[in-house]
Amino acid sequence: MLFLYFGIVGAAVGSFLNVCIDRLPSGYSISYPPSHCPACGRRLAARDLVPILSYLSLGGRCRYCGDAIPWRVLGVEVTTGLIFAMLWRHYGMGIPLILALVYCCFLIVVAFIDLEHQIIPSRVIYPAIIAAMLGALVTPGRSIWNSLGGGLVGFGTLFLIAFINPAGMGMGDVRLAAFMGLIAGFPGVLVSLLIGIVAGGLAAAFLLLAGLKGRKDSIPFGPFLVLGAMVTLLYGADILYRYVGL
Ligand SMILES: [Zn+2]
Repeated sequence: MLFLYFGIVGAAVGSFLNVCIDRLPSGYSISYPPSHCPACGRRLAARDLVPILSYLSLGGRCRYCGDAIPWRVLGVEVTTGLIFAMLWRHYGMGIPLILALVYCCFLIVVAFIDLEHQIIPSRVIYPAIIAAMLGALVTPGRSIWNSLGGGLVGFGTLFLIAFINPAGMGMGDVRLAAFMGLIAGFPGVLVSLLIGIVAGGLAAAFLLLAGLKGRKDSIPFGPFLVLGAMVTLLYGADILYRYVGL
């Protein structure tokens, strides 16, 4: 039952994250004006804003003008719902769950903004870093020095990569890596970075070989880093223990 409960709460939070993804890149307020259709400007009623169900019942189109609603709206609601439920199952009730839920919201917003705009806005990643520093103060079983160390390793590693290859990576990715390190600590940050870099490399190779992207095209790296951070948030300790056990 609680699994379902966290899934529903997650989907509702996801519809708020959609507003953040829509508005933060261009600097609009996330609280005003109220939700409206970007095509016809009609203000959306409560029945248009039910997570997942509204999108499905309307067939992915605006009730008033029939304009297509981006698939991402549904994607973010479903993803957030699933991740909330999985985080609850992994952590159980308590402070670590609350921290993980907050961190995953930042990660989801960063991933989708980077996918759509190829940027990781400062007004998203700096609040995320501050939240992670505050979270480090209350993370059970880990010292603040461990979290700060993880943040430094994340920042340092990607700074080095960006320094060597400035075309492939931006400062947004470097700041994101600092956030990932703060939330994963050390050595969790290594798992996050490894998964992110390998997944990004494989995806880039696939897109090149399949002819979907040219050598000159830029592929946003943030979503892959987010994937690494999310896997670590969900399974990080377990993956590590398995290897340490070996
Ligand atoms: Zn409309």
